[in-house]
Amino acid sequence: MTRTLILDCIKKIGEDVKISGFVHVRRDHGKILFLDVYDRTGIIQVVLGGGVGKDLRPQDVVIIEGKVNKRPESLVNKNIPTGEIEIYSEKVEVLSKASELPFDMGGPQLHLELPTLLDFRSLTLRHPKVKAIFKIQAAILEGFRKAAKDIDCSEIVVPTIAASSTEGGAQVFKVDYYGHKAFLTQSPQLYKQMLVPVYERVFTITKAYRAEPSVTTRHLSEVTQMDCEIGFVEFADLLDLLEKVAVDTIKYAQENCQKALEEFEVEPVAFGKIPRLTLREAQQIILKEFSKDNTKEKDLMPQDEVDICKWAFKNHHSDFVTITHFPTKAKPFYTHPDLKDPEYSLSYDLLFRGVEILSGSQRINDYQQLVDSIKGRGMDPKDFELYLQAFKYGMPPEGGFSLGLERVTMHMLNLSNIREASLFPRDMERVDTRLK
Ligand code: ATP
Ligand code: MG
Repeated sequence: MTRTLILDCIKKIGEDVKISGFVHVRRDHGKILFLDVYDRTGIIQVVLGGGVGKDLRPQDVVIIEGKVNKRPESLVNKNIPTGEIEIYSEKVEVLSKASELPFDMGGPQLHLELPTLLDFRSLTLRHPKVKAIFKIQAAILEGFRKAAKDIDCSEIVVPTIAASSTEGGAQVFKVDYYGHKAFLTQSPQLYKQMLVPVYERVFTITKAYRAEPSVTTRHLSEVTQMDCEIGFVEFADLLDLLEKVAVDTIKYAQENCQKALEEFEVEPVAFGKIPRLTLREAQQIILKEFSKDNTKEKDLMPQDEVDICKWAFKNHHSDFVTITHFPTKAKPFYTHPDLKDPEYSLSYDLLFRGVEILSGSQRINDYQQLVDSIKGRGMDPKDFELYLQAFKYGMPPEGGFSLGLERVTMHMLNLSNIREASLFPRDMERVDTRLK
């Protein structure tokens, strides 16, 4: 008999089927044994007779042959698509036996402390609520790819080992590269810029590495960035484009994952017109509305991000707010100063539900200005030889942005820690297992 997928059993009432999958839970009712068995399409109740299956346990990999029956009306489970049927079987084959589980995986929630959740990652990822996170994450990736293509960006794949550190600073992992010095890229920035004179508009989905010096709920050491870089644009165009791509990405994920999102009991995203504020305007609002004076800071504090998002939601019914004009000195060397007031830059962050999910800027596209900016930050233009070459031979006005996949996932689902939004999160304390 060939395999029937569990969801297809709905169409096979009265027929014999063979399903393959994993035991989710086992319930003993004396002579009769009930199993919930799942495969990639769904979950189904199996009634085992004839004394078989007594030593089955959760996560055993099984093949079950039996007959699809309609359940009595009183036993219908309206919460699952196969809730009106069950399989009666007396024939179970175990393909792979699971060890006894270290904790119960059968409930609708997995009540584990984060370290345990991650110590047993290859197991906990199998829990329906955990795997739903990464289905939604896949939809975010798909949404971004679609949104970036909609604005005519070509997809590129860029290196993650580089000769120079992208942003400078201490948060960079050094690599021993055949006895030479190299770095893990902190972002795809330099490469995507080099591709602008090639394709004009590009996007990439790639890994970036940050040696974050502390453990927070919103920082990972290995991040997935979704980036666009666009030629022949002005600052105002960039603001329109970043908001469009971010909104389209999140809308797509929300529309395509409604059922999974319901399980997380999150409010639908509020897509009101996104307010745009300069950093200083935002800080003034925070001072006025929340009585916190951070008006001299060069960036929003974490609590400022929460407060200004509350303000945006209350006044504009928007879960997003765009913040522009960060101090030039606080931004990377490639950031274009605002010619009207060069102390501030043509930079922007997009905040979503209380946290930064996107950053970007208009870039310096003049070769000499870029060389001077590198020198001005105490770096050596020689370390940026290949990058600078792109500017030497003609670079249009350009800019772009970077959207953090795990941050978006975390805040779409209201997860309390970004580690829950990464399949295998890396931080100061963990690479696969805890560092000793
Ligand atoms: P933050 O100020 O929140 O630490 P950042 O300004 O250093 O972030 P960017 O260099 O602007 O980060 O990176 C672009 C996007 O990538 C961020 O808006 C965020 O969504 C994501 N991102 C950056 N660093 C991390 C990290 N360590 N962990 C998770 N996501 C990150
Ligand atoms: Mg940023």
